[in-house]
Amino acid sequence: MNRSEVFASLKENPEVSVLIIGGGINGIGTFRDLALNGVDVLLVERADFCSGASSASSHMAHGGIRYLENGEFRLVREAVQERNRLLQNAPHIVKPLPTTIPIFKQFSGLLNAPLKFLGMLDKPSERGSLVIKIGLLLYDAYSRAQRREDAQAVVPKHQFLSRSKSLAKWSHLNPEIVNTATYYDGAILRPERLAIELILDAEAANPNAHALNYANMVGGSEDTIILRDELTDEAYDIRPKLVINAAGPWIDFANRKLGVSTRFIGGTKGSHIVLKHEELRKAIGEHEFYFENSDGRLVLLYPLFDRVLVGTTDVAMENPDEARCTDDEADYFLDMTQRIFPDIKLSRENIVFRYSGVRPLPHSSASSTSQISRDHSIEVVSGAWTNLTFPVFSLVGGKWTSFRAFSEQVANKVLAYLKLPRQKDTRALPIGGGRGYPRDPTDLKRQIESLSAWTGVTRERLKALFERYGSRAEAIATYMNGGTDFFLKSMPDYSRREIIFLVQHEKIFHLDDFILRRSMLAMLGLVTREMIDELAGVFSNTLGWDAEQSAAEVARTLFILEDRHGVRL
Ligand SMILES: Cc1cc2nc3c(=O)[nH]c(=O)nc-3n(C[C@H](O)[C@H](O)[C@H](O)COP(=O)(O)OP(=O)(O)OC[C@H]3O[C@@H](n4cnc5c(N)ncnc54)[C@H](O)[C@@H]3O)c2cc1C
Repeated sequence: MNRSEVFASLKENPEVSVLIIGGGINGIGTFRDLALNGVDVLLVERADFCSGASSASSHMAHGGIRYLENGEFRLVREAVQERNRLLQNAPHIVKPLPTTIPIFKQFSGLLNAPLKFLGMLDKPSERGSLVIKIGLLLYDAYSRAQRREDAQAVVPKHQFLSRSKSLAKWSHLNPEIVNTATYYDGAILRPERLAIELILDAEAANPNAHALNYANMVGGSEDTIILRDELTDEAYDIRPKLVINAAGPWIDFANRKLGVSTRFIGGTKGSHIVLKHEELRKAIGEHEFYFENSDGRLVLLYPLFDRVLVGTTDVAMENPDEARCTDDEADYFLDMTQRIFPDIKLSRENIVFRYSGVRPLPHSSASSTSQISRDHSIEVVSGAWTNLTFPVFSLVGGKWTSFRAFSEQVANKVLAYLKLPRQKDTRALPIGGGRGYPRDPTDLKRQIESLSAWTGVTRERLKALFERYGSRAEAIATYMNGGTDFFLKSMPDYSRREIIFLVQHEKIFHLDDFILRRSMLAMLGLVTREMIDELAGVFSNTLGWDAEQSAAEVARTLFILEDRHGVRL
């Protein structure tokens, strides 16, 4: 069913077993798990999928080595396991990421963990070699334990390098380091694509599972929830048996709309900048650099295609709608980068994109934001607490890395409530274009050659499509072959029919859905004014926009780029 058919069917029959509010990664993961298990489920997202906290991440699939210090061993074990599963199940998007810690002190930070345990730590201090060594040994132990369970799940062990070897390997590195440590995590290169592919998998598996973007939960009482279609302004009543509040940092706001007063979330803002700087990009190579400033705050320099992603901050924030990367944050990131690579000159001119989002962390009285637990939980409100006839499960916390495990725990609770058995589990289930994705370069080459022979699409182009879409490249190339196709003038590595395919199959309704989330164009600083105008032409033909709507879309996109991402065109 397309969007209007879904709304029409809801008008006819407003009953649904499960309504999920919020299309970030936690809502989407839960949607997939329930859909695979035969539940009729509706997910509603007030904006585009993955436009909240899930669009603001550091793009890491990581165990969270730092959480060991907070004693969160369960969380780290689960995240290491889930990182490995992502590498297996979505190899087209999640790649191994060598992560290097430049270390400036030998013994600092030794007391962080015991002081934290005794509740006496105000602000953590920078960790030295010894503390990092202990952490990495534990981290390796979790990876090793998993390797025994699943022979395929391997990332190499950590490695310490002396000062001289480190400087020989990274010639621009600050000579004040005492050594470096390298360990492996995962890079989620295109998180928003992973999310849309999860949605499409879920809908393909279950005809009674529907996900709607631009559908806002605006209120509810007794047995009814009210939705507003943000594209038409029409209102719809829904009658669910159970509601999952997956509104991330907006969870308490969403509960309030249902007449329930909660204080589950104590969000913290985190920002990032993307730098276009060839020398810096070359200096980091394919390694992420992950380090602390003198007060223990973490900074990362991350190889994002041919750019460098720098983040992040961790500042308490009440209203997630206000999150923006400020000039002060941007300058702080530039200073921190300079600390590690002091002879590389950087300025604000090198910033091509910025973003900011709020982590949906649990409300906490911790004295430092870094000490707030990064674990997830399901908070249930029902019965006398509310005037609702159904329970509301709020999904607090969670990370991109462990979304699958969190979703499984939520789905188990929902299935128990609905008295339904689990039929499928997602542990080894490939995601979207990860299905049948040729990992071996020879297999990939062979697949590209045979596809080129029967679609007529060039090998070079198919290679780019496989990189972008994994094995979905086949469906896209077949569609491209079904009519006259040509490259866009302003974006010579995208063709017209490729974009039409995405608009028709990936729930794109606004120009910014495409440039910000279905593609990496905006984040990599590739968008131009000419490109926006040309794309508006393609979208107008595909979605039937008239001149007025097309101009409104261009204006909307320009506003979002400037207001949220510091991009003025
Ligand atoms: C700065 C930063 C860096 C991070 N880095 C990493 C990392 O490297 N690795 C990692 O694993 N995790 C990372 N995370 C954590 C991870 O991104 C988040 O925890 C996760 O994305 C939360 O997802 P969510 O689905 O709970 O929330 P969200 O993604 O915020 O989704 C909630 C959605 O609910 C919608 N919504 C709100 N109200 C309504 C309503 N009334 N009706 C309908 N929809 C509504 C919102 O529009 C939003 O899209 C990071 C987070 C941040 C902020």
